[in-house]
Amino acid sequence: FFFFKQKAGLDVLFRFVGPEIFNRGRGGHLVPRFQATPGEMHSPRGRSRLLLEMLRGEVITEGWRSEAVKEALDLCLACKGCRSECPTHVDMATYKAEFLAHYYEGRRRPRQAWSMGRIGRWAPVAGALPRLANFFTQTPGLAALAKRIAGIAPQRRIPAFADVPFDRRHRPRRGSRGPVLLWADTFNNYFLPETAAAAAEVLAHAGYEVRLPQLRLCCGRPFYDFGLLDEAKAALRRIMQVLREDIEAGVPVVGLEPACMSVFRDELVNLFPDDGFARRLAAQTHMLADFLVREGYEPPRLEGVRALVHGHCHQKSVFGMEAELALLRKMGVDCVVPDSGCCGMAGAFGFDADKYTLSMAIGERALLPAVRAADANTLVVTNGYSCREQIAHGAARQALHIAEVLRLALRGELTENTSSAPQRDDAVRA
Ligand code: SF4
Ligand code: SF4
Repeated sequence: FFFFKQKAGLDVLFRFVGPEIFNRGRGGHLVPRFQATPGEMHSPRGRSRLLLEMLRGEVITEGWRSEAVKEALDLCLACKGCRSECPTHVDMATYKAEFLAHYYEGRRRPRQAWSMGRIGRWAPVAGALPRLANFFTQTPGLAALAKRIAGIAPQRRIPAFADVPFDRRHRPRRGSRGPVLLWADTFNNYFLPETAAAAAEVLAHAGYEVRLPQLRLCCGRPFYDFGLLDEAKAALRRIMQVLREDIEAGVPVVGLEPACMSVFRDELVNLFPDDGFARRLAAQTHMLADFLVREGYEPPRLEGVRALVHGHCHQKSVFGMEAELALLRKMGVDCVVPDSGCCGMAGAFGFDADKYTLSMAIGERALLPAVRAADANTLVVTNGYSCREQIAHGAARQALHIAEVLRLALRGELTENTSSAPQRDDAVRA
């Protein structure tokens, strides 16, 4: 599917099996994962070594069926930290997806592949009947059973469906600066529609006509976590088909969830390397803040406000945080960026019953204590749905997407309670 077919992938692996610095990363981003999962086999370098031995076939002779390689990759969060921080840009998340695709050929996949890997398939069905879905997932007793069936950690809360998903309530309005396609991903559309509504309001304020794709689409990010690459490719083909007219007309795609938007910039061009349209779609895809800064948006002011800003791993690795911070600072927000690395949730990883302890240990290294230490008037800002879940669960604070911060400023709605603790029955305190 990806790099193993290409010599470039092997070259990177050869180079990566090098000195210790590669486990640490230039910005220290790799350290949290490496420290939380000690042992060479759980380091990026150790994983590279095992993959290389698997491909050579001398020491590891089972090829794609190797249990040793599977075990080493099992605790990789697929955060793409190594992609940006390692000098060789080894992309272990990509290798993991490809390995799992081969490893599970002709085998039964874990139940999490159905419950979490295929969430883009079943969320539209469940989201059409949110009360019924929430009855099964939020009622004590039934929720415990649902978690056991789905392989979700009992300590976690299954996200609740919103009463009305964003795409059913959005009404496009004309804008003087032309159309944009707002990518309302599965998570923000069905679980946190206020984030997408806030983004639509901000883009309309910036002068754009906010359109949605003509059909309900999912980028397929969760497929990669379980090596469901045939399904991931099919999802991308469908997206390219549905968006073709708009993309060829030059309409930008603006997204909210870094994990989803990085699919367009990264996996899309990896899976369709010779497709000019795929490259065009990748180039026209932007995170909200990147797009607004690029277009010279004058954001509303939010003087005297302090924000603790946590960067989603894929955002840091694929898009960078520069525009995000520039926009907040232009608003007058005093930004504190903790050296938080990864929050430990990493999409489905932290929901998995077998990974819960490790997920929390990674969160407790830096991010969760930093959030707890922030005073109640400090906004906690992060764009990742998973990061927001981890912060709510681990530090009992409601983090905001930058779209929500912009909307608060636009509406003049910032109050002392804006960043108060959410009432969540799953919140834990260290
Ligand atoms: S993707 Fe993340 S967890 Fe996996 S090896 Fe790279 S840095 Fe480590
Ligand atoms: S949930 Fe956020 S911080 Fe955690 S791995 Fe994902 S992106 Fe990184």
